[in-house]
Amino acid sequence: GGDGALDSVRSDFPGLRTEDGGAWHYLDTAATAQKPQSVIDTMTRGFGEEYATVHRGVYQRSAEMTRRFEAARKRVASFLGSDDDREIVFVRGATEAINLVANTWGGVNIREGDRILISALEHHANIVPWQMLASHVGATIDVCPLTDDGKIDLDAAEKMLTERHKLVAFAHVSNVLGGVLDAKRAASIAHKVGARFLLDGCQAVPRVAVDVQDIGCDFYVMSSHKLYGPTGIGALWAAYDTLDAMPPWQGGGSMIDRVTFEGATYMPPPGRFEAGTPAIVEALGLHAAIDYVDAIGLDAIHAHECDLTTKARDALGQINSVRLLGPADSAGIVSFLMEGVHPHDVATIIDEEGVAVRAGHHCAQPLMDYLDIPSTVRASFGVYNDESDVAALVRGVERVRKIFG
Ligand code: PMP
Repeated sequence: GGDGALDSVRSDFPGLRTEDGGAWHYLDTAATAQKPQSVIDTMTRGFGEEYATVHRGVYQRSAEMTRRFEAARKRVASFLGSDDDREIVFVRGATEAINLVANTWGGVNIREGDRILISALEHHANIVPWQMLASHVGATIDVCPLTDDGKIDLDAAEKMLTERHKLVAFAHVSNVLGGVLDAKRAASIAHKVGARFLLDGCQAVPRVAVDVQDIGCDFYVMSSHKLYGPTGIGALWAAYDTLDAMPPWQGGGSMIDRVTFEGATYMPPPGRFEAGTPAIVEALGLHAAIDYVDAIGLDAIHAHECDLTTKARDALGQINSVRLLGPADSAGIVSFLMEGVHPHDVATIIDEEGVAVRAGHHCAQPLMDYLDIPSTVRASFGVYNDESDVAALVRGVERVRKIFG
């Protein structure tokens, strides 16, 4: 408690309630966020009395669903700072968005001898698609090192970049260490050598206000389920001209203009990249999630999560055997290790205290290698967490320390 505007937020999330009414401290929002009742209600109606297909039906129910599906696209555009809803491609999630860029833009623009710069803290989703592309065309991937406190080292990036680099792909917020990238500076460094700049915004969209125009990036990708919306939908943003110059990826219904047995012509963006019946109700759910987050305000959410992060880091830092990773100004994500205790044991013991954290490599195995650790314990905050969650985490960690003495 004591957070003013955010005090009543927890009761909006049925996923945080327990059968016996006891406390459950959900600290795994970086993996996936719980859903507010408004998202659940929107989707229940969408699958119920409002359900119909989009883009095809001439009957009223389908026309209305199409209107709402396209309104969701507009909402995502404005949320990311774009004023053109044709710049939003609906995808399954950030993973599919990056694969789309690698296969379409990358297939045309990355050639033998070219280089791609990623960083040491990337999620597998922002590594493997580039490795697949690079091995296919004969390109090379370079890895930007981190600063001592675990942020992407942009001074190093600037020195590493050459005219051979065609793409820079960085996480906007690290899913393991929580550091926030100076995205504007990264964009300008990339553009100085003529490279395009992709931001993996998975962990950023629920935590910091994003404006793709202000940042000046070329591609921005996100997943709805980390933003308090449903799984199964996410978005790729790119400038319309960039999308228009990209060939299609998956073929099928909806993405074509005219098909004969001899060939097909394709829709303009974003339809060209949306083959098949889309995630209709999920789009409505994402719309409701953005409305929910926007009503509270990302600045308030960011301040709240930074405050919890500081409190958690301060308290955990007092415990002898704890080693904190990542920067002090991490945006809501705290990774740590305990001397002599495997992260999985830490997570299992504190689960008994009703605290849900994640232990593992967090889909960032190369980062574990880079830091020379096998895995971490990760506590990540969401809009619904408060000081009682921090206190429960600290109690759990104290208990682990006593058990392993
Ligand atoms: N990038 C980052 C930084 C992530 O945290 C995640 C999800 N853990 C992804 C990409 C992949 O997102 P999704 O699984 O929703 O496609």
